[in-house]
Amino acid sequence: MRRVAAGLLLGLLLSLAWADGLREAKLSVRGETLELNPPALWDGRELWLPVMHLEKLGLPLEVSTHAVRLTTLSPDQSAAHLPLEMKRGASCAPIRDLARRLGGFTRWDEPSQTLTLLARLQEARLEGENLRIKTSLPVAWRTFKLENPNRLVIDLAGCALPDVPVPLPQPSERVHAVRIGQFDPNTVRIALEMDTPHAVPENGLHSEWQIALTPTSLAPVVAEAIDAPPVVMEEARPVEPTPEPFQMPVLQRNAQGVVQLSVPLPEGARPKVQFLENPLRIALDVPGYLQEAVEQVMDDPNLFVHTLRAVPVEGGGVRLVLELSRSVGAQILSGKTGVTLNLRAPRNTGGKLREKIIVIDPGHGGAQPGARWREGKTVIEEKTITLAISLHLAELLSREGAKVILTRAEDKAVGLYERTALSNSANAHFFISIHCDSNPRPNSASGTTIYYHKNDADSRALGQAILNEIVKVSGLPSRGVRSDSVLYQSGLAVLRTSTMPAVLIEVGFLNHSFDRAKLVQPAFQKRIAEAIAKGLKAHVEGQ
Ligand SMILES: [Zn+2]
Repeated sequence: MRRVAAGLLLGLLLSLAWADGLREAKLSVRGETLELNPPALWDGRELWLPVMHLEKLGLPLEVSTHAVRLTTLSPDQSAAHLPLEMKRGASCAPIRDLARRLGGFTRWDEPSQTLTLLARLQEARLEGENLRIKTSLPVAWRTFKLENPNRLVIDLAGCALPDVPVPLPQPSERVHAVRIGQFDPNTVRIALEMDTPHAVPENGLHSEWQIALTPTSLAPVVAEAIDAPPVVMEEARPVEPTPEPFQMPVLQRNAQGVVQLSVPLPEGARPKVQFLENPLRIALDVPGYLQEAVEQVMDDPNLFVHTLRAVPVEGGGVRLVLELSRSVGAQILSGKTGVTLNLRAPRNTGGKLREKIIVIDPGHGGAQPGARWREGKTVIEEKTITLAISLHLAELLSREGAKVILTRAEDKAVGLYERTALSNSANAHFFISIHCDSNPRPNSASGTTIYYHKNDADSRALGQAILNEIVKVSGLPSRGVRSDSVLYQSGLAVLRTSTMPAVLIEVGFLNHSFDRAKLVQPAFQKRIAEAIAKGLKAHVEGQ
């Protein structure tokens, strides 16, 4: 109580000292938090950086007395000039605006009062014996080798995957497979599967460069920057027929707590909705509009959306991106004249995780081993891995105070209907089934998929919250949260017969060497269990 009073008093004093609504804030660039004196200032929407620090960002800029010029944009473009403002006696530049104009973006973290500046990956292409990489802002990169299978790994710090996916490079004779994923929230990882990877010895800081993949016996492998203007902002191109300017929609919350967003559709346009993770997003593609990149930050946490962005899509149209502040049950109503998204808090969320009953269902067991992989004398079985992950998860959730029910805690067979009957009669709040994937062709598919039943928005939201955490720690590609109707018309039995929100997690492919090497590791199994627990907690309690 006394601490609260002291905090209030301190807050009051601070606000008396600075009645300007600004707060000191940190700035993170390329995976590092900068030491700034005088500090950057946050006004609730924009981060103001004293101009003396600008060069630390490594951006293509020229600073004059009243403005910053973005040197990669043509000088007569209005977007090329940003006015400076005086804040607490220092001339400051608006960093969010700056990042956006250069094709990057920023993420504000309230607890740590930190703004993270991030580039978008724009291109990764194999060209002969070179890998060519392009990002919207300079990123710090480093390479290293990994074994089993042999890979050359390139980490781009301060980078995120774009809202519109980057086409994967086609495998070549030298490079058997390419993977691009968000390794952690601030790092994009590109992994090239090859027989003899050579890590490039130097690190760098560029927005466009190429890496030679062929070692020669004499010269070391070098990475070189390409002398081209690093950042080019793409002008939105006109589309056929006559494109209309896009009106940013307004989010509205009704008395039932449903947040609604409507976008009118041009004649004959067909919208597309996608759910994306890390960060949690809903992307709505609407053709037929003309739009420059715009970003709005929402102040009201009850809107479930903290940032609303519109980005031009290659070939015309707009992608509206809703960056979510929590997992949501989403309903999409698409008609001839418009599309409406209804967002609401998913079923059984709210309150604390410790108040919930959770059924954990380790896939297979006993005489039903699930997917199997034989390697010499060793046989790896799905049932063993799913049980290990489930037991870790049960322990983590119990420690949190939740009531946990396992459909099996040992190596025994349990019928599918028995599993859900147990869950339904216990009136559980959530059902989580854990499996490993497998397909007819070894080494052809890799990554994590989470299934929900048919078009159940509450289960999809649960799956998205969990996948959002798994992709942060797994190092495996995300294959998305999918309806089980893509597998069977009737869906999956354990999901169909569950009366509560239910998901089935296919952690990775047991018949892909990359995934298998991870799946069998106890440390990996534990990490996955931690991610599931974290995702479930975020789903219940909000992020
Ligand atoms: Zn299975």
